[in-house]
Amino acid sequence: MDFTLSPEQQAVQEKARGLAQEVKLLAARYDREAAFPREILQPWAEAGMFGLALPREYGGRGLNYVAYVLAQMELAQACPASALILHLNHSLFGGTVARFGTVDQKQAWLPRVAQGEVYACFALTEPEAGSDPAGMKTSARREADGWVLTGQKNFVTSGSEARFALVAAVTDPERGAKGISALVVDISATPEITWGSREDKLGLRAAVSVPLYFDQARLPGISLLGEANQGLKVMLTALDAARVGSAAIAVGLGRAVLAEALAYARQRRQFGQAVTDFQATQWKLADMATGLEAAALLTLKAAWLKDQLRPYSQAAAMAKKFATDTAMAAATEGVQILGGYGYLTEYPLERYFRDAKAGQIYEGTNEIMRLIIARELLRG
Ligand SMILES: Cc1cc2nc3c(=O)[nH]c(=O)nc-3n(C[C@H](O)[C@H](O)[C@H](O)COP(=O)(O)OP(=O)(O)OC[C@H]3O[C@@H](n4cnc5c(N)ncnc54)[C@H](O)[C@@H]3O)c2cc1C
Repeated sequence: MDFTLSPEQQAVQEKARGLAQEVKLLAARYDREAAFPREILQPWAEAGMFGLALPREYGGRGLNYVAYVLAQMELAQACPASALILHLNHSLFGGTVARFGTVDQKQAWLPRVAQGEVYACFALTEPEAGSDPAGMKTSARREADGWVLTGQKNFVTSGSEARFALVAAVTDPERGAKGISALVVDISATPEITWGSREDKLGLRAAVSVPLYFDQARLPGISLLGEANQGLKVMLTALDAARVGSAAIAVGLGRAVLAEALAYARQRRQFGQAVTDFQATQWKLADMATGLEAAALLTLKAAWLKDQLRPYSQAAAMAKKFATDTAMAAATEGVQILGGYGYLTEYPLERYFRDAKAGQIYEGTNEIMRLIIARELLRG
């Protein structure tokens, strides 16, 4: 087994590390103001980060998913919320259109999303359908020249900023989970789509989330992504890929926590010695470093399986569950290592602590990750 990165992967990693360093100090302000962080995202777009593993012919860089997760492990160290916005463009929307779209659809929707010129969002969750998306109520009716979409989606991250939305809707109510279709909506061309006020979130506050409302929204025929009534498969495939990226964001967040905690503990003196001299602190740091290394390896393995076109649902669920749980544990101990100062907004630890919690919930909660892992185990 060879753990050496290719020169291209190393170059992407180094570039992302530099980009993260440049914007690190902006993240706290965007979190405080719960404002969409264009200033952070702009240089990432200019450097090609939004299209790393998207096809070259549609504005991407044509690299593999391993390169993408390596980049996210760096970018998320600066601002996990911005990393999530990029992730929506790149993986939940871009990767799904690249996989299921026709040539016309890819030409229409991908290039500007892959270059970070416009934003994209993913609308699956509803007020009464979260972990069980098959219970959704949003519906789309076929008309001669397209579709009419009606309903509401909740928690749509980037929804108020996005040009394009990937939306799941019931198209054949008789067929349950096999009567759902995936539709791509050009929000700017659809006046019947509106959004509510931004959710006042605990963390990832710069990754603004809103409810989206569809009031008999008229969509052109090109909007259907994949086959009619196969939309749940499209959305769940999108989530498989996305979970690998979310695991990478969690690894990046955890590494940022470790770096901050280590730097603080080295210079903080109590009882006449550095806090790092206490074995209790050393053990916390050692546990964090071990967990993060394991999380990174699970994430890279899932990305590698995806690149090899091998089954990777279970690997993605394991990576997402383990990495986000590890990031949460690291953030909890990180705050502890800083003592009272970890609890102040003057230091970034409390922000990482709030951001980490979301990873255990979005893109399927970690309880649902266990269901996926167990389902594969029981299948034998
Ligand atoms: C920061 C953030 C950003 C988000 N962004 C988006 C977005 O862009 N697009 C989008 O569509 N959604 C988004 N979501 C929504 C997210 O995907 C859902 O919150 C998540 O899937 C859980 O759904 P729910 O909140 O309805 O919880 P519920 O499904 O109501 O779950 C409640 C509790 O029950 C548990 N539970 C449910 N079913 C089972 C089961 N079968 N076995 C065991 N336990 C179970 C859950 O794990 C959870 O603990 C976002 C959420 C957050 C927090």
